[in-house]
Amino acid sequence: MTLPRIKVLALGGTIATRPDASGAMQMGLGADDLVAAVPALATLAAIDAETVSRVGSHSLGFDQIHALAARIAALDVDGVIVTQGTDTLEETSFLLDLLLDRDIPVIVTAAMRNPALTSPDGPGNLLAAVRVACDPWVRAHARALGVMAVMLDEVYAASDVLKIHPTRLNAFASPQTGPLATLVEDRVVPLSLPVREAIVGARKRLGTIGGKAAPVALLWMALDEPGHLVEALMTAADHLGYRGVVLGGLGGGHVPERAADLIMRLAGILPTVMSPRAGGGPMLRQTYGGPSSEIALRKAGLIWGGRLHPLKARVLLETCLRAGLGRDTIAEVFDAFG
Ligand code: ASP
Repeated sequence: MTLPRIKVLALGGTIATRPDASGAMQMGLGADDLVAAVPALATLAAIDAETVSRVGSHSLGFDQIHALAARIAALDVDGVIVTQGTDTLEETSFLLDLLLDRDIPVIVTAAMRNPALTSPDGPGNLLAAVRVACDPWVRAHARALGVMAVMLDEVYAASDVLKIHPTRLNAFASPQTGPLATLVEDRVVPLSLPVREAIVGARKRLGTIGGKAAPVALLWMALDEPGHLVEALMTAADHLGYRGVVLGGLGGGHVPERAADLIMRLAGILPTVMSPRAGGGPMLRQTYGGPSSEIALRKAGLIWGGRLHPLKARVLLETCLRAGLGRDTIAEVFDAFG
């Protein structure tokens, strides 16, 4: 029997660290080291491992993920595993999902416990990721599943997965939808297929993205927020270098009344997306009246982010702006997310 050909692309992160002379963990391991630590992989797949970078995911950039997506798009393999740090996995995996349209499994995995600890999770996560990539149900539904994250024996959709704890082992979840599949013994047990119309629609509008970086500011709305940062964004030269803004909005899509006027003016200057500070939507569209309600903010031109977490909304807005989409098309892209 021919084994599936799986490409492992290693970016860095805790999974790839080793202790320096002082005992502090530093980037060090490459893709070959990660694969060599899991002999069982050889029974599942023909692995080809490549070290792409050795950086923590907190220092990855949009450009690197665009380059990675172009690389993955050109691979002639049966599945791809990306290993990286956990800090931005919820963002990088979603960006890959927006950029890739492949009918092979593409999976991102990582580790919370470094290799010097007694029970590191990196080897188990890599084994699980390869097992998922080789699973017949996953392979048959690869396009419908989109890019996936595999952590601690659960499989998550890139558009929904969140890092919900900074340190503990079970740090990942998809609070809105739950996992797509789970692993038990040596089996992958399917649980659900994601609803992907909004992502497929976004991809159609995005087309081939060749543009340059379009930084997006992320501002959290909170009790008694006066809006000074919003004012600075509006009035500073070149808007401080930002091309768009995501607001982590209160409740169903609200801001403190004292900042409402500034925010409405901001929406006329930079594409401004309202996204739920609660971590997931959808938000309200037509319930509350008043000067800082969703009805007033939408009328003033704020783009409604739908059910996307503010971190995912920021990734999507950057991608739209980089692709050169105008405000109205961006609003349509977000509208499909509810
Ligand atoms: N700072 C690390 C990173 O994201 C943390 C990790 O990998 O868990 O690269």
